[in-house]
Amino acid sequence: MKAVLDHIGIAVDDLDAALAFYTDALGLEVDATEDVPSQGVRAHFVRVGAAALELLEATTDESPIRRFVTRRGAGIHHITLRVDDIAAALARLKARGVRLIDETPRDGAEGALVAFVHPSSAHGVLVELKQERSAQAAHHAR
Ligand code: ZN
Repeated sequence: MKAVLDHIGIAVDDLDAALAFYTDALGLEVDATEDVPSQGVRAHFVRVGAAALELLEATTDESPIRRFVTRRGAGIHHITLRVDDIAAALARLKARGVRLIDETPRDGAEGALVAFVHPSSAHGVLVELKQERSAQAAHHAR
């Protein structure tokens, strides 16, 4: 199985301060912003080479990001690994007794399929698997 780092999700408490650090101090640029109302989250993507940093800002009090920041403070929330075949990756993990939050893939941003692995099975890290829409199309065309 091949997996590529897609992005690192970072829960922020103070977006302006976070942007001041990543854009002003480090000189990086936000190249996309996406609202995910169902999750109460606004995501700001900062490109770093082939991967990205995803600055996650809570937009509602019920947001999982708000809960995360309240409980643990701002910081790394998840890492996302891109795979060619998410169904095969999940089957492989399940066969090895890995605890999954999503047993089957669900719809993510930009038509991607995503599934989360429980941090208790990933050494304390929330791991998101992602299969891009183009990879799905290529897969189905085979
Ligand atoms: Zn993410």
